[in-house]
Amino acid sequence: MKQNFDAAELAKFTDVAHDWWDAGSPSFGALHTINPLRLSWIESITPLSGKRILDVGCGGGILSDSMARKAATNTAGGSVLGIDLGRESLQIAQLHALEANTPSVSYRDISAEALAIESPASFDVVTCMEMLEHVPDPAAIVRAAAALVKPNGWVFFSTINRNLQSFASAIVGAEYVLGLIPRGTHEYAKFIQPAELMRWARNVGLMPQGTRGLGYNPITQRYALNSDTSVNYMIAMQKC
Ligand code: SAH
Repeated sequence: MKQNFDAAELAKFTDVAHDWWDAGSPSFGALHTINPLRLSWIESITPLSGKRILDVGCGGGILSDSMARKAATNTAGGSVLGIDLGRESLQIAQLHALEANTPSVSYRDISAEALAIESPASFDVVTCMEMLEHVPDPAAIVRAAAALVKPNGWVFFSTINRNLQSFASAIVGAEYVLGLIPRGTHEYAKFIQPAELMRWARNVGLMPQGTRGLGYNPITQRYALNSDTSVNYMIAMQKC
């Protein structure tokens, strides 16, 4: 299997892995702030209670842990598996699960492509947030997600659009002017337009069903979901 990761990209996250659960840290503060927004959007499309969920590129488990709490609120016993290729991030995720007492989450150091061979059509819901723009071949991750989800199951991606506005806002604004995230976090060429992501998805039997934009207001310093997908956006897709 062709290796689909970039060691320098993984290092950006493992170097600051100790900060994953510091909601005030420059590295991960923004992910903590947007987490309730993306979680409630996912739940508005498919309730997580009792579901078997996979979180691809889970990092320190910010989304995994919150989904695992929702998944386990049913006697049917839902759970989340978080996967990543950053070992230090996974260790922090595991430690947090112990500290926060989230038994319905577990973590593994395995690629999406390898897991798709091991456990095809195994998950009701697959999430892959803020990760596609860090991998060399994002279409291969989309293909793996399509293989991992059960028929009629849901797949959620979030990433950053590629255009002049996203360059100005997600790189110049967020990294250099406002300092919302560390400099060098993102590379413009790796940003993904919604039409590209939707094309990769349709090619592997994932039907796009809805998109949401995620906007930041520098005056109020708040994030909000909206219909503007020109910078940060999420797409919900269903496997047919
Ligand atoms: N999805 C999490 C973390 C996003 S940060 C969240 O939204 O809260 C991006 C994550 O992608 C990092 O943890 C990084 O280690 C991971 N990543 C980058 N390339 C990867 C790859 N090829 N396979 C799996 N994970 C990868």
